[in-house]
Amino acid sequence: MTKKLEEVVKQYRVTEGRLFRLKEVDPDDRGGLKISKKQAGTTLQEEWIARLAELQEKLYAQDQWSVLLIFQAMDAAGKDSTIKHVMSGINPQGCDVHSFKVPSEEELDHDFLWRTTKALPTRGRIGIFNRSYYEEVLVVRIHPDILARQRIPETLVTRSIWKQRFEDINAFERHLARNGTVIRKFFLHVSHEEQRRRFMDRLDEPEKHWKFSLADIKERERWDDYMRAYEDMIRRTATPHAPWYVVPADHKWFTRLVVAAVVVEALEGLKLAFPAVDDDKEKELARARSLLADEAN
Ligand code: ATP
Ligand code: MG
Repeated sequence: MTKKLEEVVKQYRVTEGRLFRLKEVDPDDRGGLKISKKQAGTTLQEEWIARLAELQEKLYAQDQWSVLLIFQAMDAAGKDSTIKHVMSGINPQGCDVHSFKVPSEEELDHDFLWRTTKALPTRGRIGIFNRSYYEEVLVVRIHPDILARQRIPETLVTRSIWKQRFEDINAFERHLARNGTVIRKFFLHVSHEEQRRRFMDRLDEPEKHWKFSLADIKERERWDDYMRAYEDMIRRTATPHAPWYVVPADHKWFTRLVVAAVVVEALEGLKLAFPAVDDDKEKELARARSLLADEAN
């Protein structure tokens, strides 16, 4: 590899959104990595996923920090497959994936953070949100009828509603961070053209038909609105304790490498270690050892 991946990922990190411009990230970018798709797959498995698996064991054993990974993207940007690949080496006991779809009646009866709050990872675990409360400033912002379904008292729905949601999200994430949740947010940035190609593939392959819905085409028609909403979202909610990573997503192998490297870096920053064993425990282990040895005699 010509460039170190740790260096490459830094350019996609946004911790202070004020000056962020979505146009500055090219979905086709490969970060200058001069490797083949095949090499990328091997590196992902043998280096990054292996490191991730080790770190996750310590995270779980230490049982203090929790990790929340949020994935947002346009359809067909590769959320599902990135989650599947990057998390493939992880012990399923220490990891939960939650997908957030159109809210149910019960969910609509609560405030917009309710359903995601219930799904937050407990200490020692990695929680993955495939879509999240950020849909509230994306699809809900673009479709006023969806907001209306939430039945928020009319007097509270003012022009400031999106600003207020950003404030509430920021306060929520700050609260989580202060209580030991490490947050990393990924926007998988696919191009309009690459989305078209992937939709076409879905139409051409019967095994992918279940993934296709005409609604996806409807949302595609609102592409520019979505890009504006995504940009605004990143500008208003990127913070040092809950950074956004705007990951080029036209090349799936590259997306996966970047996401894996970000998660590894986040976990390494925690200086995780297996809990030390105290004297009583040492004695207990010695006793167990001698009991087992006696059995053999
Ligand atoms: P796939 O890759 O399989 O298409 P997906 O995440 O797009 O996965 P879908 O069932 O196709 O899953 O779509 C979920 C839909 O739910 C999306 O269109 C999303 O915008 C919508 N959604 C998610 N959260 C909300 C919300 N809070 N309010 C309204 N719609 C939402
Ligand atoms: Mg979909």
